[in-house]
Amino acid sequence: MMEKSSEIRRNVEAVQEQIGRAAAEAGRDPSEIRLMAVTKTQSAARVNEAIAAGVTLLGENRAQELLEKYDGYDRAGCGIHFIGHLQSNKVRSIVDKVSMIESVDRLSLAQEISRCAQLHGLVMPVLIEVNIGREQSKSGVLPEALPELLGKVSLLPGLSVRGLMAIPPNIEDTVQKEGYFEQMYRHFIDMKAKKLDNVSMTILSMGMSHDYPLAIRHGSNVVRIGRALFGERM
Ligand SMILES: *Cc1c(COP(=O)(O)O)cnc(C)c1O
Repeated sequence: MMEKSSEIRRNVEAVQEQIGRAAAEAGRDPSEIRLMAVTKTQSAARVNEAIAAGVTLLGENRAQELLEKYDGYDRAGCGIHFIGHLQSNKVRSIVDKVSMIESVDRLSLAQEISRCAQLHGLVMPVLIEVNIGREQSKSGVLPEALPELLGKVSLLPGLSVRGLMAIPPNIEDTVQKEGYFEQMYRHFIDMKAKKLDNVSMTILSMGMSHDYPLAIRHGSNVVRIGRALFGERM
């Protein structure tokens, strides 16, 4: 147990160092880039080790798993972003527990988030998830439908759009992967240029354990890391 704990700490430090290096190479300020610990399948105790090592942001994939672990987290000073596919009927159970929902990919979901947030007197920060690789198996709005969805979501009173999120195809080819990150950065800049009311395009969430340095080189400012912190999932 002790060994595992210090392993998580070492991993947090190693990832932070890599973030710093990638930022420096890209001529960016490392403090612009936030490290998110993606907690799926990890016990609250292990997640708390990451928090003790300096992590200030958690990423949650499943509503049920979040509800089960929520009270076990040492979450003072720690943000929680929802990053998984979200069914509208689960919004109500998580809306008062998360600080951002990164996986908004359809108007009906945005409407439910807005409605539930208003019931709690909240304005929920959200990201629009883009299916940049056009994969059948993945959530996210297709790139060509992004402007229309963004326009409609921005009109809802109970949420506030803060940026974009993407999970590019899981491929080894660096050049092809880079192409997806570049496309996302271009969409981010284009959507920012629209200067829509109630939209503050400041967050670009992309990059996971195997590709976050590359994502940072292409403008990511939230990297979502699971395995590089906690090891392979059981
Ligand atoms: C699991 C997951 C991650 C982290 O993946 P790793 O490869 O473990 O770093 C990031 N984002 C989302 C949406 C995920 O589901």
